[in-house]
Amino acid sequence: MNTIFDEHEAGRGTSYLPEREIDLARYLPRSALRAELALPELAEIQVVRHFTGLSRRNHGVDSGFYPLGSCTMKYNPKINEDTARLPGFASAHPYQSEETVQGALQLMWELQQDLQEITGMDAVSLQPAAGAQGEFTGILMIRAYHRLRGDEGRTQVIIPDSAHGTNPATAAMAGFEVVHVPSDERGGVDLDALHAVVSEKTAALMLTNPNTLGLFDERIQEIAQVVHGAGGLLYYDGANLNAVLGRSRPGDMGFDVVHLNLHKTFSTPHGGGGPGSGPVGVKAALKDFLPMPTVTQRADGSYGLDYEIPHSIGQMRSFYGNFGMLVRAYTYIRSLGGEGLLGVADDAVLNANYLLARLRGSFYEPYDRTPKHEFVIAPPRDLKKETGVRTLDIAKRLLDFSVHPPTVYFPLIVDEAMMLEPTETETRETLDAFADILLGILKEAQEDPEVVKTAPHDTVVGRLDEAKAVRAPRLRETLGA
Ligand SMILES: *Cc1c(COP(=O)(O)O)cnc(C)c1O
Repeated sequence: MNTIFDEHEAGRGTSYLPEREIDLARYLPRSALRAELALPELAEIQVVRHFTGLSRRNHGVDSGFYPLGSCTMKYNPKINEDTARLPGFASAHPYQSEETVQGALQLMWELQQDLQEITGMDAVSLQPAAGAQGEFTGILMIRAYHRLRGDEGRTQVIIPDSAHGTNPATAAMAGFEVVHVPSDERGGVDLDALHAVVSEKTAALMLTNPNTLGLFDERIQEIAQVVHGAGGLLYYDGANLNAVLGRSRPGDMGFDVVHLNLHKTFSTPHGGGGPGSGPVGVKAALKDFLPMPTVTQRADGSYGLDYEIPHSIGQMRSFYGNFGMLVRAYTYIRSLGGEGLLGVADDAVLNANYLLARLRGSFYEPYDRTPKHEFVIAPPRDLKKETGVRTLDIAKRLLDFSVHPPTVYFPLIVDEAMMLEPTETETRETLDAFADILLGILKEAQEDPEVVKTAPHDTVVGRLDEAKAVRAPRLRETLGA
């Protein structure tokens, strides 16, 4: 592969550095000083083409279909970017006085109100920087709630086996013992098993509904009764609200605490490490534990920051969260309005069910139910035995057709799982094209399994040793290497 170093030619460089005025040897150890630095010398246009070329090797939701289950890679409307770049928002400094940032505070306050309405909660904090941090915030509040009541014996958090991995990690980080509860044959919480593990030690149950199988737990009110009856609280992992936006609310289902991922449901961009935003909402009984500050509206109608939260768990992140993400989510909510948000939920569920209908019969379906915004399938049960082709191979082969693979091998309770979430903004043509590709790969797996097992073939790099690529990445090229 040609690298930018092959184009190097001495004297072609276009950077002109000023003469150094200080004696670096006075400040830096000799071992850290270099007389020569082997940077390639290139014309500006070569550099531009190099980086533009690299950027095109990325797959993003702006370049192709991205049905990554549980992660909601939905389209990020460009109007969100326009508003986030308005100078009054983009240039505001967190140390400015309240009078000079009334607009920004009003936006945050209104977003808090909107998220309260959407989730059926009584108060919201916008501070957490990601979903996992929202979970941690929520579980710390639950811990503080029990402690303040002198209920020190609640040391366990119950989590279903279909849960996202961050849930048990959060509970463990907050010092709780994780107690797993299995799913029943319909993919919901096994109520008998729940009865068996709930006790005076239960601090909370963490639940996603619809869960990571894309299935709505119809017995959620009964589940809530069991947990509340034992003195525990209910935590809702609302990272993906797509299926229920405007249709049902965690607060009405019986949940006490919820976190949302603005970078999933509310169209702020994600992938590549952030920044994210994971607001938390709580019922009135937990309001006094929120992280500080929250944004309030004062008696005279102005907006300000409230640090007077009696039993606040403290500050979870510097300042007020990732403000740019809040502007984007606010724009998304306000540009769609209530009707538009309902449409998001309906179309997300419709698209998932349409795609499943196209794949049904060809792929294995672990639960014979109508899913919500995402669904889990697996290759036909005899494919692996007959051809050696696994889910991972199918995922890799998809790359040759310029689509991002679905989430694979998750949730853990379905062998060879593929978890697909097409999102509401994809057209029927895209879904049909994708279904054709997937069915084509299945046929290919039977007729010519080697092609699938050695995929991808048309990408910049072939099949990677994924563990090694993460643990020992090769991040630089050097002149003459
Ligand atoms: C993405 C996700 C999370 C974690 O969110 P991050 O912002 O990645 O920390 C938690 N739960 C579920 C169900 C998710 O899909």
